[in-house]
Amino acid sequence: MTHQPLIPGLSSALATPLPRVLRPQRAVPQDTVRPTRAEINLANLRHNLRLLQRHAGASQVWSVLKADGYGHGSKAVARTLERAGTAGICVALLEEAIELRDAGIRSPILVMGGYFGRAWGEVLKHNLTPVLYDAGQIEELADEVRYSRSEAADIHVKFDTGMSRLGAPPAEARAIAEQLAAAPELNLRGLMTHFACADGGDTDSIRRQLSVFAEVRETLKQHGVEPEICHAANSAALFADDTAKLDMVRPGIAVFGVEPKRGMCSELKPVMTVLSRIIALRTIDPGQSVGYGWTWTAKRPTRVATLPMGYADGLSRALSNKGTVLVHGKRAPIIGVVSMDLTMVDVTDIPDVRLGDDCTVMGKQVGKHGTDCISATEIADQLGTIPWEVLTSVSRRVPRFYREP
Ligand SMILES: *Cc1c(COP(=O)(O)O)cnc(C)c1O
Repeated sequence: MTHQPLIPGLSSALATPLPRVLRPQRAVPQDTVRPTRAEINLANLRHNLRLLQRHAGASQVWSVLKADGYGHGSKAVARTLERAGTAGICVALLEEAIELRDAGIRSPILVMGGYFGRAWGEVLKHNLTPVLYDAGQIEELADEVRYSRSEAADIHVKFDTGMSRLGAPPAEARAIAEQLAAAPELNLRGLMTHFACADGGDTDSIRRQLSVFAEVRETLKQHGVEPEICHAANSAALFADDTAKLDMVRPGIAVFGVEPKRGMCSELKPVMTVLSRIIALRTIDPGQSVGYGWTWTAKRPTRVATLPMGYADGLSRALSNKGTVLVHGKRAPIIGVVSMDLTMVDVTDIPDVRLGDDCTVMGKQVGKHGTDCISATEIADQLGTIPWEVLTSVSRRVPRFYREP
């Protein structure tokens, strides 16, 4: 007689490996016909890492590569930073970490996003370091280590010192210390928190959060629990306050060459440039209009250039009749509404514009009529958002070309 499981299907469901989700793939350079593209300058990436290491002093620099490396392509970026000596890599999702391991990245990877489902086996299998913040997670991972007879797992524990987002409340420090002291399956490698107001350069708030963090650390210590390293600083805190550096810093946006706040570190070099080419040119008469809804009407004979890039590529529709692009080093205003795949610009005041000419949607352009730069920060200001969102909005339809200039 064969053994019948109590609940048909459950035991086999538990035995099946995690379903592998088909990941949407980004357009790749070799398949690209359309001239719209993002160029990723790997020399600037290395420059930024070196600069951050200098600013960090004795503290380790772990590069934050969540959200596909802030839109730059996490695999190529991780490979470059690993060779250039980043001490580790931080991502938000378990999926992002596994993608990097599958690409051959060997650096320590800290998974900060806080959600692991029941995939603790994947955490161990890929040698990832999870950020944990509650008793349930700590217990589940310790159980997984015991049942799978793995070696003790490295973890970081996060406390909420004022952001009210993710992290154990400081009042639970004692309970967590007792739990960790009784869990030989786990190695407390790191203790962390995150700043709420560092991007504005608010050192008062940084100091307040650091003092709560120090109390948590003291409570853990009283229970015999001492993390190897403590960390808190994102890019802004690293520039704003030396006392925030602790043992390790976690810069993201600065690695990609964008200042968290204007004037914080002018030596950073932007890594991403977004480019396209003019695919259509026409001259329209005064009174003729442009684009969906005829929202722009010519007041003079106007030379209209069309770019094969639209809001589905991450060129926000909110830049309609507002943004600019660079042609031959000069600014050409976006006219009419940005459509899904196409955008029109006014090149009347730029001499000798031809079909096929390059235009820069984000980044620096050196052209025959001048040199100019449209930064992620400028675009963010126009959109009423932050450069983090601008970088991560460049869509997967835009192929990334990696350049060693
Ligand atoms: C995104 C993130 C960072 C990096 O922030 P930047 O402002 O881009 O430097 C650091 N720590 C945590 C927990 C984050 O989520």
